[in-house]
Amino acid sequence: MAIDATQPYDDDNIFGKILRGEIPSTKVYEDEWAYAFEDINPQAKIHTLVIPRGRYVSWDDFSAHASAEEIAGFVRAVGKIARENGLVEPGYRLLANVGPHGGQEVPHLHVHIFGGEPLGRMIAK
Ligand code: AMP
Repeated sequence: MAIDATQPYDDDNIFGKILRGEIPSTKVYEDEWAYAFEDINPQAKIHTLVIPRGRYVSWDDFSAHASAEEIAGFVRAVGKIARENGLVEPGYRLLANVGPHGGQEVPHLHVHIFGGEPLGRMIAK
């Protein structure tokens, strides 16, 4: 079910648990600012989720409240993951769902990286 992206951060959310190593994930990348893992229900040949280490509910929360250092570290990590996985030349897609209309289901900011094949229309209707 889609979440309210303005709610307070809930430490029990599933991506918070993944970040703390309390439930398993297939790690793709990690650094000081970000952790990346494979989506459990991939929507493309490559479907990676990138999450900040900080406690941010959504892109809205992160862009409003994260420090410049956190934002730079996270954005650089997303770019690096795509680059290191050979996605730049064939191309890829980034997506961050926010709130009910965005269809956000997990209340810890995550950026989806899709790639590995042509991705078709921008938004399915
Ligand atoms: P969103 O709709 O943007 O909130 O996307 C949530 C994404 O998290 C979906 O693509 C799910 O397949 C994915 N997901 C949910 N639980 C897990 C998990 N335990 N490990 C990896 N991906 C997950």
